[in-house]
Amino acid sequence: MAILIDSHCHLDRIDLAAFGGDLGAAIAAAKTLEVGHMINVSVDWETYPQVLAIAERFDCVSASVGVHPTETDVIEPTVEMLVAAAQHPKIVAIGETGLDYFRLTEGDLGAWQHERFRTHIRAANQVNKPLIIHTRQACDDTIRILQEEQNGPGVFHCFTEDWSMAKRGLDLGMYISFSGIVTFKNAQALRDVAKQVPLDRLLVETDAPYLTPVPHRGTPNQPGYTRFVAEHIAELRGMSYPELRDITTENCLRLFKLALK
Ligand SMILES: [Zn+2]
Ligand SMILES: [Zn+2]
Repeated sequence: MAILIDSHCHLDRIDLAAFGGDLGAAIAAAKTLEVGHMINVSVDWETYPQVLAIAERFDCVSASVGVHPTETDVIEPTVEMLVAAAQHPKIVAIGETGLDYFRLTEGDLGAWQHERFRTHIRAANQVNKPLIIHTRQACDDTIRILQEEQNGPGVFHCFTEDWSMAKRGLDLGMYISFSGIVTFKNAQALRDVAKQVPLDRLLVETDAPYLTPVPHRGTPNQPGYTRFVAEHIAELRGMSYPELRDITTENCLRLFKLALK
């Protein structure tokens, strides 16, 4: 059966009002849009047990472990803690991790983000699992730290930077994942990037509950809406949706070493 994969969502945070409070109904709705697998991404150590519990409950959900670059006043896992958590069979990646300078306050050079990022890269290297990287307004440092730590493959998720950053990531073996932002009216520059990413490195995601794609903007995002991101990129690239679906699914299976049930 052909499926599309949501390479990045936060199922513990999605709005279930439209699904009678039932996450199972949200996942069933995604399947009606052909979204048959999802990566449920962790953002801090405190809520990681809930993120993992969802993956344990549903065959079609995998999970990651990590602490988002902008989280403050949270537990700072060590390499050993991340490595131990990543032994779980449902954990397919380390992250989301990375650098995000968008909200840094004046005088903060983000050194604490660098340390956290390096810890995650070292854990990923040890367990031989891909990194899910969140990078925003921090291109040079993201690339430099990845090079210094000699990481393996990973993904720049919810990509919003320019082609030169995409290219630098691709040269390091990164995949590039696009969210609903690519469908936004003012995102022409990003659409140009999405047209150029080599097909064997392209992924799609929702980042639900955030960033709802056209035509559902103004409502909460859900994993099924990966479909609209995929259809949009297929059209941009002059391909059929089924072609793009199959290619991005293959990429996801390869990067996350997924074995679908
Ligand atoms: Zn992110
Ligand atoms: Zn995210």
